[in-house]
Amino acid sequence: MIDGGEAIRKLALNVARYTGLAPLAKPFVGGIGAILMLHRVTATPEKPNSVNRHLNIAPAFLDKLIADMKARGYAFVTLDEAIERIKIGGKGGQFATITADDAYRDNMTEALPVLEKHGAPITIYVAPGLIDGAADLWWDLVEDIVDTTSRLTLKTASESTVVDCSTPGRKIQAVARLNAWLTLEVSEEAQGAALRELARSNGIELGTGRAGILMNWDEIRTMTAHPLVTIGAHTINHRNLKRLSEADARHEIGDVKRILTERLGQEPRHFAYPYGYARAVGCREVGFARDAGYVSAVTTRHGVLRAEHAGFLHALPRISVNGRYQSVAHIRTMLSGITTPLANAGKMVVTI
Ligand SMILES: [Zn+2]
Repeated sequence: MIDGGEAIRKLALNVARYTGLAPLAKPFVGGIGAILMLHRVTATPEKPNSVNRHLNIAPAFLDKLIADMKARGYAFVTLDEAIERIKIGGKGGQFATITADDAYRDNMTEALPVLEKHGAPITIYVAPGLIDGAADLWWDLVEDIVDTTSRLTLKTASESTVVDCSTPGRKIQAVARLNAWLTLEVSEEAQGAALRELARSNGIELGTGRAGILMNWDEIRTMTAHPLVTIGAHTINHRNLKRLSEADARHEIGDVKRILTERLGQEPRHFAYPYGYARAVGCREVGFARDAGYVSAVTTRHGVLRAEHAGFLHALPRISVNGRYQSVAHIRTMLSGITTPLANAGKMVVTI
């Protein structure tokens, strides 16, 4: 899961503004390849008007995008091969690799058939705590709470405030307020309990999350055996690592390897930082991922890959393919590299 936020909205505006310039920009800012980032891929989202709808794309769009990229010379490769190509400075030609975070079931039911059609590999990053139900898809619970009511009383450590949820616009603001509360004030471990208490104190019946929205272990095992699928690690409990002690962060990054190996019979070689933005991953976390022995680690920072990333294999940026940009032209613009410095204060080689 990523936090869209203001930076992404600005990027969307810039994408629109620079779309026509992208072909001209390519020789100057273009990279050697890209890691695409997906979350949900479904033609029938349960909540088409939800505030998290930007996390979803339609399978037909994925199909169109891969076909377009292949026609323009991109080779779709496994993440292992992408890393090898980064190490040799992209000499094997322009490449793309697809990743998806959180193991949504639609990755198997709706994205995989598209990937099979194109022979395009995917890496799916799994957080065992989410699969077992020990950790919450709290952004879905926030959405459910805000969708259910027109006003909420939010009791934080310091105050009690009324949050207006009466209109679609107010609901978006309410989600932003609750996200800020959960990710800045409430501890990582207490997010689920805090949300349940918020629901209870406001008289809202909260289910156990949306049953079946993520794959179960049997399905993940089936995916593990699929020739196009690589399973990567996404911490144990989908924690914001920067908010954890060193011991807890190392536990989340390192011990997820053991859990996934026990469950799937294969040790994960690649890692994705939950949330992946600057408030969730810094130098310390990159060091921990390297120490844990992963071959690579990805953030959610926006950027194309460049030869220099050979020195930063544990802080690789991605290009988010999400509901905000279901336009092949927009993705082309982002792949041109022109939006990489725009979204990163002028930086061409994006790490953390
Ligand atoms: Zn995630």
